[in-house]
Amino acid sequence: MATDVQMGAEAETFAFQAEINQLLSLIINTFYSNKEIFLRELISNSSDALDKIRYDSLTDKSKLDAQPELFIRIVPDKTNKTLSIIDSGIGMTKADLVNNLGTIARSGTKEFMEALQAGADVSMIGQFGVGFYSAYLVAEKVIVTTKHNDDEQYIWESQAGGSFTVTRDVNGEPLGRGTKITLYLKEDQLEYLEERRLKDLVKKHSEFISYPIYLWTEKTTEKEISDDEDEETKKEEEGDVEEVDEEKETKSKKKKVKEVTHEWALINKQKPIWLRKPEEITKEEYAAFYKSLTNDWEEHLAVKHFSVEGQLEFKAILFVPKRAPFDLFDTRKKMNNIKLYVRRVFIMDNCEELIPEYLGFVKGVVDSDDLPLNISREMLQQNKILKVIRKNLVKKCIEMFMEISENKEDYTKFYEAFAKNLKLGIHEDSQNRAKLAELLRYYSTKSGEEMTSLKDYVTRMKDGQKDIYYITGESKKAVENSPFLERLKKKGYEVLFMVDAIDEYAVGQLKEYDGKKLVSATKEGLKLDEETDEEKKKKEEKKAAFEGLCKTMKEILGDKVEKVVVSDRIVDSPCCLVTGEYGWTANMERIMKAQALRDNSMSAYMSSKKTMEINPDNGIMEELRKRAEADKNDKSVKDLVMLLYETALLTSGFSMDDPNTFAGRIHRMLKLGLSIDEDEAEAPADDADMPALEEEGNEESKMEEVD
Ligand code: ADP
Repeated sequence: MATDVQMGAEAETFAFQAEINQLLSLIINTFYSNKEIFLRELISNSSDALDKIRYDSLTDKSKLDAQPELFIRIVPDKTNKTLSIIDSGIGMTKADLVNNLGTIARSGTKEFMEALQAGADVSMIGQFGVGFYSAYLVAEKVIVTTKHNDDEQYIWESQAGGSFTVTRDVNGEPLGRGTKITLYLKEDQLEYLEERRLKDLVKKHSEFISYPIYLWTEKTTEKEISDDEDEETKKEEEGDVEEVDEEKETKSKKKKVKEVTHEWALINKQKPIWLRKPEEITKEEYAAFYKSLTNDWEEHLAVKHFSVEGQLEFKAILFVPKRAPFDLFDTRKKMNNIKLYVRRVFIMDNCEELIPEYLGFVKGVVDSDDLPLNISREMLQQNKILKVIRKNLVKKCIEMFMEISENKEDYTKFYEAFAKNLKLGIHEDSQNRAKLAELLRYYSTKSGEEMTSLKDYVTRMKDGQKDIYYITGESKKAVENSPFLERLKKKGYEVLFMVDAIDEYAVGQLKEYDGKKLVSATKEGLKLDEETDEEKKKKEEKKAAFEGLCKTMKEILGDKVEKVVVSDRIVDSPCCLVTGEYGWTANMERIMKAQALRDNSMSAYMSSKKTMEINPDNGIMEELRKRAEADKNDKSVKDLVMLLYETALLTSGFSMDDPNTFAGRIHRMLKLGLSIDEDEAEAPADDADMPALEEEGNEESKMEEVD
């Protein structure tokens, strides 16, 4: 047995994982003014650990046996210059210690360092899941003593510098269960031993921790005692009485002494804020609660505090943060920021059934009176009460977003951060689709610098305009001068610019707003309005005149296009490429190509079947028509048609698979324009293997590979 203990007490040394090591150096060697946040981080970890053991104890009461009380204690020790934070939480096993505090890096480690180097504040650390290491902002050495129900008591110790040790704690004071973190403060950080400072910090950052936080306080009282009394007290209270006043009072035989006593002072209120009346809570209190809930360093953007009564009762506070978290759409991590309580008892903080994925950025708490305390994850999935709660939460979230939209500045911020979530909601949440559509904002041909809502769009619709028009593309710049918009612009019809990849998906589901169809400006079958008989006749004539050219062009272009037709939508450009009403748009094709892991088989069905639309009023088309009519096999006609097709690819938002052939064609045009003889000119390198204009024939096969 003795040897066993000896062996167990031997320190094992571990190297910090490389990124964690880097993080530690950064924390230690960079100057940050905001060091105080370390306390909030450690208290928050304690609170999490307490939540875990409380949750476990709901199904097995004996888990609390080793230490029935749930608390956080803070002990400043001026003699040793240490500050300890003790909790009776779940504790850590030896394996937890090794993994959680040094050998396995969280995904946020690197992101946090990048953020820091980009000028972020160190107080953001908690959001990145590496809060523990903030201890090194103020400490040169940290010792973690911990006891988990399933293991012995262990000591973790490190002065950073690349490694840490883990030792079994054979002689230390038993914790029962929980964790004690002792910080050996740096010489210039001794302010964190002052009661006042600690109390203020807890009030500032940790007021809403739902476990009692006790501070080990020192009280000095002056007391008059007679000499003989003095002797007795000394015996009774041993070291705690300090004789400070030597001055003897002559009249009586009494003297003054300062008496130092210690006690645990409760320094946080724990009444959950959500149980209080909203009218009685100040904005500052909500902000403080929000910060303690989320570790955010900024205040919330919006809050909704409500209770639902009747058949089912629950209270909730929901917050919208000012920014999106760094890993908002990290698919490895299911985002859920609503903490579930049952009758004030914390149950869990990642209950997927509580809120849909697209609202994963909303933070808050829900406290239900109706769910059973010992509810398990499996039960939650089936639970009807939870379904009702969820429905209510979604409704309230949307209400909250509507409220934000009443303030332009706030809404701009909100929309920048969370537009993707709203659009994901449009895609997924058919029940709330119509309401979510009210929240959408787009730039448009008429919006100017500010985005427009669909509602405002509708008020601007022209007489006789039935549909809402939009164009999708890579960026505002890429779409605002698109040939697709020419006719629409000329008619004064506003066109929305949908330039977010997710717009393609969202609009595909939305289909209409306020009874008006959403119509893509780049797809086939764009009908702008009813025509007069005269207009119809004129159009028919033009169509007839250009029928021959359309046919010739289709022959030249082959499989590259589905058909070639006379256009209804372009005014200035010679031609454009439109896609089928149900297939992918050019933009969607671009998005799908960018998805590295996509399944290629879909592309065959969905990738755009292109229709070439030509503009009969454009001079180039007219000239082309004449030449084609004169000689169908005119080589220059072939080359021009190819060029028109390739430029249309670009102006219509497609990518060009073989830009070199295109460039070659342009170069030859340039030479023609500059009257440079092909034989005389020194063939530039990139042009060397291009056949001359007349030899287009051999080029044919090469170009066929384009698609
Ligand atoms: P986070 O708390 O965001 O997960 P930290 O770096 O603060 O990141 O802590 C890392 C891990 O160490 C925690 O997830 C937890 O498992 C463990 N841990 C830290 N402090 C405690 C504590 N007081 N009690 C139990 N476990 C803790």
